[in-house]
Amino acid sequence: MKTIITGDRPTGKMHLGHYFGSIQNRVKMQYDYDTYILIADVQALTDNFDNPEKVRNSVRELALDYLASGIDPKHSHIYIQSLIPEVAELTVYFSNLVTVSRLYRNPTTKHEAGQKKDKFGESGETITYGFLGYPVSQAADITALDGDVVPVGEDQVPHIEQTREIARKFNSIYGETFKEPEAVLSETPRIKGLDGNEKMGKSLGNAIYLADNEAEITKKVMSAVTDPSKIKKDDPANPDICMVYYYHKLLKNENLDTVCSECNAGSRGCVACKKELIKVMLEFLEPIQERRKYYEEHPEEVEKILKEGTEAARARAKEVMQRVRKNMKLDYFE
Ligand code: ATP
Ligand code: MG
Repeated sequence: MKTIITGDRPTGKMHLGHYFGSIQNRVKMQYDYDTYILIADVQALTDNFDNPEKVRNSVRELALDYLASGIDPKHSHIYIQSLIPEVAELTVYFSNLVTVSRLYRNPTTKHEAGQKKDKFGESGETITYGFLGYPVSQAADITALDGDVVPVGEDQVPHIEQTREIARKFNSIYGETFKEPEAVLSETPRIKGLDGNEKMGKSLGNAIYLADNEAEITKKVMSAVTDPSKIKKDDPANPDICMVYYYHKLLKNENLDTVCSECNAGSRGCVACKKELIKVMLEFLEPIQERRKYYEEHPEEVEKILKEGTEAARARAKEVMQRVRKNMKLDYFE
C-alpha cells in the first residue's frame, strides 16, 4: 500500500471549502492507502506564535471535524506534528539544502505573507525565519514518514515541488534516502463563497462551518448573492451567476433541474430558493454533526485516537531517521 501524508494547520474550524476541497477526498482514499493525517500545530504557530490558545483549541476542533466528516481511525492515523520531534530534527538538516532566495520565490509563501501584512510588514520585511521556512518543515513532514502521495489543493503544489527538490538534493549528497513524493491535485476546484467571492475562507468571513447550527446557516444563506438583474420575485434569472444555485449544485440537490428551470422561468423567488438550500444544507450536514456530537461527548475516545495515531507516525519517523542519520554519518554510537 502506498502512503498518503496530508493534513491541516489547526487555526480554526473546518468549513465546506475544506470538506469539498480536501476532506472528502481523504475519506475516499483512506481505504486504499496507508493514510497519515497531520494536525500541523508547529506550522500553525509560524503565524500564530503569539496565540497558543487558538492553536491548542483548534487541534481539538480539527480532530472533531475530521472524525465527524468520516475520517475513520481504523483506516487513518491522525497525529499531532509537535509530538514527532524527528520531524523537527529533519527540518534542521533540510534547512541546509534550500537557499533563502528559493524560499522567497515560493509563490504560496509570498501570497500568504502578503495577506498578513500586520505581522510580516507591507512588503514582507518583517517575515520570520519560521514562516519563510514553512515549506522546509513541510518537506520534513512528508519525507520523515516516507510519504508517496500528497493530495493537495493547487496552492500547495509549489510546496510539494520544493519537497521534491529537497529530497533530490539530499539523495545526491548523502545517498539514496528518500523517494520523491507525488502531489495529487484535488479534482474539486476551489469552492466559492456564498458572497460571490472566488473562495470560501475562514479569514474572508464567508465560511460555512461543518459545525454551524441552523440559525447560523440560515443567516449566512439568506444573505447569499443572487443574480442582480432579478429584482422582483417573478423576474426570470440566470442561475449560472447565482451563488444559491451554485450551492444547490455542490450539495447535489435532487431537484436541481427544477431549481434551474423555475429560476429561468421566473416562477421561483429567491427567498423560497434560499429556504430550500438551507434545508438541503442541513440535511447534508446532519450525519456530520451527529458524528461530531458523539465525539464531543466522548473526549477520551478522541484523545486515544490522537495518541495512537501519533505513536504510529512517530514509530515510522524513528525508522526513517535512523536511515537519515546513518547516511549523514551522524550515527555515532551505533
Ligand atoms: P484562511 O482564510 O485563514 O487562509 P482558509 O479557510 O483558507 O483559512 P486554510 O487553513 O488556509 O483555510 O486551508 C487549508 C487548505 O484547505 C488549503 O490549502 C486548501 O487546499 C483547502 N481549502 C481551503 N479553502 C478552500 C476552498 N474554498 N475550496 C477548496 N479548498 C479549500
Ligand atoms: Mg488559506
